[in-house]
Amino acid sequence: MARLITELGRLPGICEITAERLASHLLLVPRDQALGLARAIQEMREQLRRCSLCGGYAQEEPCPICRDPGRDPRRIVVVEEPRDQVALEEAGVCDGRYHVLGGRLAPLEGVESRDLTLELLARRVAALLAEGPELVELIIATNPNLEGDHTALAVATRLQGLPGHERLVMTRIATGLPSGSAIEYAHREVLVDAFRGRRPLEITSESAP
Ligand SMILES: [Zn+2]
Repeated sequence: MARLITELGRLPGICEITAERLASHLLLVPRDQALGLARAIQEMREQLRRCSLCGGYAQEEPCPICRDPGRDPRRIVVVEEPRDQVALEEAGVCDGRYHVLGGRLAPLEGVESRDLTLELLARRVAALLAEGPELVELIIATNPNLEGDHTALAVATRLQGLPGHERLVMTRIATGLPSGSAIEYAHREVLVDAFRGRRPLEITSESAP
């Protein structure tokens, strides 16, 4: 039990007291439920592997998204972690492919660019630029916080020197006011972002009053 408490305590957001509670909970629940958790962890780790093209996780190699011929291979959304990819997929906003960095730059925690799949991305983009004259679009969707912004900058800096980079279009996802929110309740930083990220108002036949 002490071993389990130690292991649980290593998980993000789990303090020692919570680890002890979870361990004693797992001791009291039906045996199948507790072992089901152990098996789920084991199967996930044994069956999912990193896609050699995009750095995402899947049972097959390459992953289903990289193999999907219906997706634009020259549009790549760069995300920090697999869960970001899942969220964007569920939102249905991306008709291209992904690149999973495997984290974000966090010098204070010892996470440097060599811990991310930045070189894999650079090789991938270089190959796309060498392939043909069409544009390659990179949408950098790291989280809109200090570390995510820093990571976005590192990605852009690494790729801007690639041969053919004049055909590489890099954009950063917008930040600012969430749809459906109200200006009067927004934090200052959100309002600053919203102003910096303002875009031309397009009047279409559907949007006209
Ligand atoms: Zn892939």
